[in-house]
Amino acid sequence: MPELPEVEVTRRSFADRIAGARVQAVRVGKPLRWPLGCDPQVLVGQQVQVVTRRGKYLIVHLDGGVLLLHLGMSGSLQFAPQLPPPGVHDHFELETSHGRLRLHDPRRFGAVVHAPSLDDARVRKLLDGLGVEPLEGGFDARVFHEALQRRRAAIKPVLMAGDIVVGVGNIYASEALFLAGIRPTVRADRLSRSRVARLHAAIIQVLQKALALGGSTLRDFSSAQGESGYFQLDAMVYDREGQPCRVCGTAIRATRQAQRSTFYCPRCQKP
Ligand SMILES: [Zn+2]
Repeated sequence: MPELPEVEVTRRSFADRIAGARVQAVRVGKPLRWPLGCDPQVLVGQQVQVVTRRGKYLIVHLDGGVLLLHLGMSGSLQFAPQLPPPGVHDHFELETSHGRLRLHDPRRFGAVVHAPSLDDARVRKLLDGLGVEPLEGGFDARVFHEALQRRRAAIKPVLMAGDIVVGVGNIYASEALFLAGIRPTVRADRLSRSRVARLHAAIIQVLQKALALGGSTLRDFSSAQGESGYFQLDAMVYDREGQPCRVCGTAIRATRQAQRSTFYCPRCQKP
């Protein structure tokens, strides 16, 4: 599943190139997770201003509204002057004066949603509940600790819920908790201020590393230029059940939390 670093890598790979382009045609394929919310013809003639990101939503700002794009479980975007004819899994395409932006999404959990502005009720419903951006100035260790004090659930599902901080999906939650030496099953409200400070630093470190490497290589992910990243190759715990911990040599354990696999080192990560 594309996580925040992959989405940000995707954004950076086409945002500058599509800025200023005029939409010339729109092609809509099979239904995605949510309907577009407008007649595709409404988009024709509009100019792309900038492409921003909030959580895992890419926001294409047009002079007549916004397009929110979500990659779902298996989506990827391509942007190029020319692309081969659309295949069965290509479900949305903007033909612009600078190139074609195409959403490829075999499982169709992704979405493209149009709204007149970011204040629109449909957009607010998707974006309002999102936590702070971990790679921007608003992510503060003290505020993070206060928010965790109000949660009695285990720290890993609390991180993954995304309403305190966005972007910490399964891989990055497992890796950040390892770096911070915290067992994923510890209750969020039982973490001391100093442990939360270590976790805060670890989240930033893990996400920045993934961004630098171009996002993790996941089955269906490729950035808008068709490159893939390498983060998973040097994961400390994620998907390493039974293998020796890279720090202490103890076998990595796997468990399930909130229907998701969790990986941890029983020696390095304290309850
Ligand atoms: Zn270890």
